[in-house]
Amino acid sequence: MGRSNGSQAKAAPVDAPAARSRSKATPDLECGNGECTQCRADWRFITAARKPRLRELVGSLTVVDLFSGCGGMSVGLQEAARRAHRQLAVRLAVDHDDTAAQIYKLNFPEARVVAGDVGALFDGVAGQRLTKSEKRLATAVGRLDVLVGGPPCQGHSDLNNHTRRKDPRNSLYGLMARAAKVLNPKLVVVENVAPVQWDKGGVVDATWNALYDLGYEVAGDVIDLRRVGVPQRRRRHVLIASRVPSVDPEQVLEQLTAGLGEDHADRTVWWAIEDLRSLRSRAMFDSAPQPTADNEKRIKYLFAHGEHDLPNPNRPPCHRDDEHSYRSMYGRLWWDEPAQTITTGFGSMGQGRYVHPSQRRTITPHEAARLQTFPDWFSFGSQPRRAALGRMIGNAVPPLLMAELGRLTIGRLHRKRANTKTQTRR
Ligand SMILES: [Zn+2]
Repeated sequence: MGRSNGSQAKAAPVDAPAARSRSKATPDLECGNGECTQCRADWRFITAARKPRLRELVGSLTVVDLFSGCGGMSVGLQEAARRAHRQLAVRLAVDHDDTAAQIYKLNFPEARVVAGDVGALFDGVAGQRLTKSEKRLATAVGRLDVLVGGPPCQGHSDLNNHTRRKDPRNSLYGLMARAAKVLNPKLVVVENVAPVQWDKGGVVDATWNALYDLGYEVAGDVIDLRRVGVPQRRRRHVLIASRVPSVDPEQVLEQLTAGLGEDHADRTVWWAIEDLRSLRSRAMFDSAPQPTADNEKRIKYLFAHGEHDLPNPNRPPCHRDDEHSYRSMYGRLWWDEPAQTITTGFGSMGQGRYVHPSQRRTITPHEAARLQTFPDWFSFGSQPRRAALGRMIGNAVPPLLMAELGRLTIGRLHRKRANTKTQTRR
């Protein structure tokens, strides 16, 4: 499915249809169109048709990925490891979704992948000693560098024990701290939707405190992923915990927030998917779903009138809104801006601004995966259904987040004077 693996800088969007009005991005800044070193390296990463071989020059990075989805966080860590001349060794990946676990395994064949509940693996009670099965798990995983996870925002695992259910430390989010207690990683990263910080049950605070009690330095904040180079409006809460003195979570968060640098323009839809315009493929991965007759008319209208927002009268009644809160629905993407958040509904006009900038259709799964910064070599399997594909791509953590976080931390995890005071705390 991948193709171009060129290394040339990308040309300016000469035919960008809306460059006239909407461009608050300033393409003439230091790097507006992917010409700086980091843009080129990241572009080579997302367009690479073949999985890169990792050379083990300075040891491997060991990883456990919980609530892994199809593997967005691991893919990013793998890229960071590659750039740091390390191997990646995934000791364990867990997701309750069978399709996600299968796709993960396809891309990380050497990993131990479990399709099941994280809560079933970490079955101890918060604040209490490890269970037998937790001890076995710790032994099987061995020395662990990085524990990552993107727990789903809702739902609890099969917690039939009432006391467990009531305690925020036993929420899916809180299981990340339990997993840290069991596996003793040097670094923990938890990704979640931005509103998790206002969660009524206080899951972030409870997890933060639990990690602190285990001896970790902890920091957390909402990050605009455009700053780390994701060509998409996507704000996510990221919690970072470190028990290695050379990695200061607060500093890492600041660096992530600064991202590409103040003068660097946001990456655009053009940067991510322009080269796919000429692609001719009938595979589902490279084709948009057939729109309904009404939506076909709406797409026609957008192009016939050079519009990116559909006027009210052309919308279904429920989406006519004076406040324009629905403005992005039924809209067309701009070449010279980041995309809106890629959700599981990117194949449907009514779910957001997902019409291609210059072609009369919604974006394809391949284009959505690129906007999520998945590399072309990443396989989403041969026969997933379209809805499953949308779920995999839309729910994923964009790999570039962990690629950047990895860049800032991996080299420091193996420094000799690591803090060992927590290692005996089980
Ligand atoms: Zn750049």
